Amino acid sequence: MLVAHLPNVFYLSGFTGESGMLLVQGRRAVLFTDPRFRVQARQECSQQGIKIEIVRGPLPPVVGNCLRQAGSNGILLFEEDRLTVSQLRQLKRAGRAGMVWRGVCGTVEALREVKDSQEVARMRDAARLGSAVMTHAIRCVRPGMTELELAAEIEYQMRKLGASGPSFETIVASGPRGALPHGRPTAKRLKKRELVVLDLGVILRRYSSDLTRTVHIGRAPAAVRGWYQAVLLAQAEARQAVRAGVPAQEVDEAARRVLRREGLERYFVHSTGHGLGIEVHERPSLGRNQKTRLLAGSIVTIEPGVYLPGRGGIRIEDDVLVTETGSETLTDVSRELIEI
Ligand code: ZN
Ligand code: ZN
Repeated sequence: MLVAHLPNVFYLSGFTGESGMLLVQGRRAVLFTDPRFRVQARQECSQQGIKIEIVRGPLPPVVGNCLRQAGSNGILLFEEDRLTVSQLRQLKRAGRAGMVWRGVCGTVEALREVKDSQEVARMRDAARLGSAVMTHAIRCVRPGMTELELAAEIEYQMRKLGASGPSFETIVASGPRGALPHGRPTAKRLKKRELVVLDLGVILRRYSSDLTRTVHIGRAPAAVRGWYQAVLLAQAEARQAVRAGVPAQEVDEAARRVLRREGLERYFVHSTGHGLGIEVHERPSLGRNQKTRLLAGSIVTIEPGVYLPGRGGIRIEDDVLVTETGSETLTDVSRELIEI
């Protein structure tokens, strides 16, 4: 199998460079990378018995050539959702004529879904660090500052506390902008009587966290309190529903049921959560019609939200470890409505 998606290459080999393809053949593996990563590849992969091939120029022709010389006449699996059309063309041109090229999808991603104890430990640390950054971020919220200033403070704090960076572009969405579930921070100033959605994630030792809290600047009106309590209850019910063996759609439905009862379902425009690990979005997806069952050792986010056009948004998100008997919430920041 040829593995080209870098998070999958890292998962299988430990290689963290930005250019690489891993060819796995039985118990043997070859990592192809360019000269910039010669030293790094040796440090990260050679003790695992992985052969390192340094390539000048594009990788696919050399990988194809290597397949031809190895006399491989069998079946080559490639990640059809990761390889570009032109990479596949180059590989086939250099490869052997008799070889069967078979596209597969999600093969390594399926292995990544269940975390081993070392991965869980890293995710725990990333969740703890993300929680510390969120606690700091909430303390920093002041009317008059811009969304960009707050996002800058958040990302500065991540690195100061030891993260290698954000796992996605930090979301600060205030007032009506909060109705955009993925509102990028802008020069808009935070104002009194506004909701502010803060969604942040850190990368720590290659593993991600993902955490959202919503605060209100000033005393929240009754309507906002009502919406907030509904999202809070939806999130608690969804976390309660998490357990190994439960179909993912049941967790989604647990959140949706609460919002439906409160007449807010049509403002909940995304799924309840997603898997989290080396990447910030991975398997499984916790949405409607997702019949796949949760696996013990997988880590998912639980993040229902409501987005009221013209008014703003409310989302509460935590990272949760799936266990045989239920779940463990890894992120730790108060979920009560914070009024600043
Ligand atoms: Zn998030
Ligand atoms: Zn998320």
